[in-house]
Formats: sequence, C-alpha cells, structure tokens
Amino acid sequence: MSNLSYSTQCIEQDDIDAATQVLNGTFLAQGPKVKEFEDNLCAYTGAKYAIAFNSATSALQASYLASGIQQDDEIITSPISFVSTSNMMIECGAIPVWCDIKEDGNIDEDKIEKLITSKTKAIVPVHFAGKPVSLEKIHALAKKYKLLVIEDAAHALGSSIYRKKIGSFSDMTIFSFHAIKPITTGEGGAVLTDNEEYAKHLRLIRSHGMVKKDLWNSDMIELGYNFRMPELAGALGVSQLKKLDKFVALRWEISSYYDEVFKDETLFSTQKIEKNQVSSRHLYPILLDRQLHPHKEKIFKELQENGLGIQVHYKPIYQNSFYIAKFGKTSLPVADDFYRSEVSIPCHQKMSLDDAKFVADTLLKILSKYAR
Ligand SMILES: *Cc1c(COP(=O)(O)O)cnc(C)c1O
Repeated sequence: MSNLSYSTQCIEQDDIDAATQVLNGTFLAQGPKVKEFEDNLCAYTGAKYAIAFNSATSALQASYLASGIQQDDEIITSPISFVSTSNMMIECGAIPVWCDIKEDGNIDEDKIEKLITSKTKAIVPVHFAGKPVSLEKIHALAKKYKLLVIEDAAHALGSSIYRKKIGSFSDMTIFSFHAIKPITTGEGGAVLTDNEEYAKHLRLIRSHGMVKKDLWNSDMIELGYNFRMPELAGALGVSQLKKLDKFVALRWEISSYYDEVFKDETLFSTQKIEKNQVSSRHLYPILLDRQLHPHKEKIFKELQENGLGIQVHYKPIYQNSFYIAKFGKTSLPVADDFYRSEVSIPCHQKMSLDDAKFVADTLLKILSKYAR
C-alpha cells in the first residue's frame, strides 16, 4: 500500500538533480536559483513581484510589517487556519479579529462588514484546502473602508478564479512551500505583490534591513530579519513549480473520484468547488454529519488504525490556550461546528485511483458502524 497520508510531497529525480547541482555549486545561501524561482512564480501567477522567504510564517510577518500594520491595529481574519496566520499579527502588535466561516471552510464575506471599526487595517482571508475565497465582495469592502487585503494562500498555489491564478488579486498574497503544501522546497514561502514599494520593503525586511552602499559600506536603515530562502530550496522550487499543474491534475483526479462516490452520501458532506474556480485540492475535507460528532475521536483512531493518514484542519485558532489567555473565550458557531465535523482524508499526487477506492471503501465501512 502506498502512503495514505492526508497530503505528502512528491520528490522525483529532477528535483534531486536540481538540489545536487546547488550542492556542487557556488551559492548555498540565497542566490540565482532563488531569483529564478521568484521570476517563475511571477510568470505562473501573473503577479509583478515575488519575494521568497524561508517560510510562509516569516512571509506573513514580513507582509504585515511591509503593509504598515502597527500596534493595536485590527485585522479581520479566519479562525479556520494554521495558527501562524494570526500569530504573526500578534508578533506585529496587531489584534486578530476572527470572522465566522461558511460551510466550505472559507471566511463568510457577508459577516465581515459588521466587524470593521476605525482600527481595522486589513482583511486576511485564507483559501481553505485550496478553494478560492469569494474575493469580489472582500475587495469591495476593502475599497469602501480603505483596507488592505492580504491573502493567506498557503493552500492555494495552482488555484484560480475565472482562469486567473491566485497570486495577483490582492495587495499581497502569501504562499507556503512547506513539505506537504501544493509544491515544496522543504521549508519556504513567498509574498507576491504588484506594488513596487511593498516589494522593496519586503526585501529589506527579509535581509536585516540593510542596503548596499559603495565598496564595503552597507547601511542598516530599519530593523530587519534573516528570512532568506536558501539556494537549495530555490532550486527545488524551480523544479517543483514546473510540475505544479501536473500535481493539481493528479489531485483533481483523486478528488473527482471522491466527489462522484460521495455525491449522495448522508453521513458526511464534501467541499463544493464552484464552476468558475479551480482548487489546488491541497486537502480533501469532509464534514461529518451531526450524529457522528460524539464519536469523532473513535472514528479518527479507527480510520488511522486502518491505514488512513487522516488529519483535522483546523482547531479554531481562538481555541488555543495562548489566545484564550490573551483574549478570553471566543466562540463562533459555524467555525466551532466545522471543527467538530471536519476530517481531511488522503488526497495527494502520489495516490492511485485504487488507493482512493480503498480510502472511500474504508471510510464508508467505518462511518456506517457509528451511524444510527
Ligand atoms: C502551512 C500554513 C502556514 C504556515 O506555513 P509555513 O511555511 O509552514 O510557515 C500558514 N497558513 C496556512 C493556512 C498554512 O496552511
């Protein structure tokens, strides 16, 4: 049986060759391969500038800093995300204001407006599982209230709306190249933007806030970090990006099979992708029917014991003890319910249709045992 993790990397000989070339070459820290990867990300998404980082977490932090987010600014965001989306707001002194989500796991754009105050500075939506967020309404609100939109697109490299790739819709867009994201550089991230000022500022933040003067002289003009992407990662990025469309197509094949098999299922529902959208299908989330919620722990264990490397995405960020200690208890009904029902089942580019059939059969067999 092949690897039935909910998601996994796919490293092939060309990736290994690309990495070996770097190890035999001159540059190990950020060098020409990182630049090439950035140029290719621009070409792929249509964004003007791409700035590579050593993770999406540092890319998020840098994008908040570059956008001028300051102490006590409020940022409206989704609680159904990896913690770093909100964590890096705290790191910048800002306050995450969590907006409830919809059944598909994405921020409910109709609930954003009533959260906007005079302190709101930005909206940070997350394309959950790779399904594009409804950006039109969010951009209309941003325009009306003069807010920035920064997309956490860690799941969504390869996703598109009306054939336009995620990456150039908003002020800034963040991708992750962590091991199991749509493509990988081991660890890595990037910010994409069409704004030259942001691009310059992001590069400064990435590398100690230093600018080169003449000869040996350089000047540190603002507090910066070392958030640079190593050359090895850049080389992997170049070879992986070439295969992104193939990876997305393979994940579509698996997820389309699931969609078909599960279309009349009553024990759980699946994420619906609109006709005008392509999802990277980074994850395949299912939402267990209410009658199964009390049994979720047992179901989870039993699925794992039967070889399904499932996971739950995500515990609402506000339910983590750090945030409870900081802001007290928060509760958003749809997000709370989503957490009670969500399970991500195996869906990745190394699975065969036989694997998918095994997953579907095992899932249905085990869930039906717990059904009333
Ligand atoms: C993975 C992930 C991140 C963090 O990415 P890293 O590259 O691991 O720092 C941020 N947001 C979301 C939604 C993610 O899935």
